[in-house]
Amino acid sequence: AKSEGGNAMRFFEAAMQATITARATLESELRAALAGHQFLLHYQSQVTSEGRIVGAEVLLRWQHPTRGLVPPFGFIDLAEETGLIVPLGFWVLEDACKQLEHWAHHPGRRDLELAVNVSARQFREEDFVQRVREVLDRTGADPTRLKLELTESLVQNNVAATAEKMKSLAAMGIRFSMDDFGTGYSSLSYMTQLPLNQIKVDKSFVQKIGDDPKVELIIQTIIGMARNLELEVVAEGVETRQQLAFLEKHRCTLYQGYLFSKPVPLAEFEAQLDPEIIA
Ligand code: C2E
Ligand code: CA
Ligand code: CA
Ligand code: CA
Repeated sequence: AKSEGGNAMRFFEAAMQATITARATLESELRAALAGHQFLLHYQSQVTSEGRIVGAEVLLRWQHPTRGLVPPFGFIDLAEETGLIVPLGFWVLEDACKQLEHWAHHPGRRDLELAVNVSARQFREEDFVQRVREVLDRTGADPTRLKLELTESLVQNNVAATAEKMKSLAAMGIRFSMDDFGTGYSSLSYMTQLPLNQIKVDKSFVQKIGDDPKVELIIQTIIGMARNLELEVVAEGVETRQQLAFLEKHRCTLYQGYLFSKPVPLAEFEAQLDPEIIA
């Protein structure tokens, strides 16, 4: 039994060591990727109930030299833990702002909006507001076309400080969306204290439409509350006609999901804006 225990311990240590090595490798690869321009944005359209595309959420992808296109779940947690999410997040913001500025000179596209995800860690940086201002100055992007998606974890314990930063950014014209609404440690009290413009119904709720009447009630409640607070509501992860019909019945504002489009490279997103050309 003693030697079995020893074996188990050696196995455990080897597994731990392998995990640590893999993480260290991934971390140095991430640093190299940031320096070597291996990141890119995909665009997922956001549409009205008439099917008009009002803009997109930009979603980060890593074009890895050997592993191909890596989605965020493969690296975002480590980027958070190591703090790399901060420079990475500012790269995302700058790339999105460059695109907005580019569209500003194109008649059919100057009204497009881009939603950019901001991690709690990035938002909490002391000079966050100043650095966003610098990105806007450098790129010349119209701040009113930019929406920052925040999560509830960012608000936690610090409503006043969060509100203050958001108000400085809102004064520049930037708008805010509360992402994954209802899935975090929510407190409804922050809803009245933060200058929010939009909330996003999480896809984990949307995916239960038709299956779970209690979740349907939660969605109805979220949409109703948003309407009373004069906030837009975006439903995320809309995959079926049935989900869409339910959301439309309850007068959701905007829709995002595979039913309309997956997140796609820029050229494909732009092709969606000119359907007559690809038809
Ligand atoms: P999120 O912000 O909640 O983004 C929505 C996720 O749902 C995206 O996953 C999107 O591809 C996926 N999605 C959209 N519609 C559907 C659908 O109809 N069905 C299903 N099954 N999924 C759908 P993605 O692109 O893998 O991103 C995952 C998460 O990674 C994001 O969740 C966000 O938390 C994080 N992330 C992505 N890009 C960034 C970024 O630039 N900065 C930060 N901080 N986080 C990012
Ligand atoms: Ca998001
Ligand atoms: Ca979400
Ligand atoms: Ca999410």
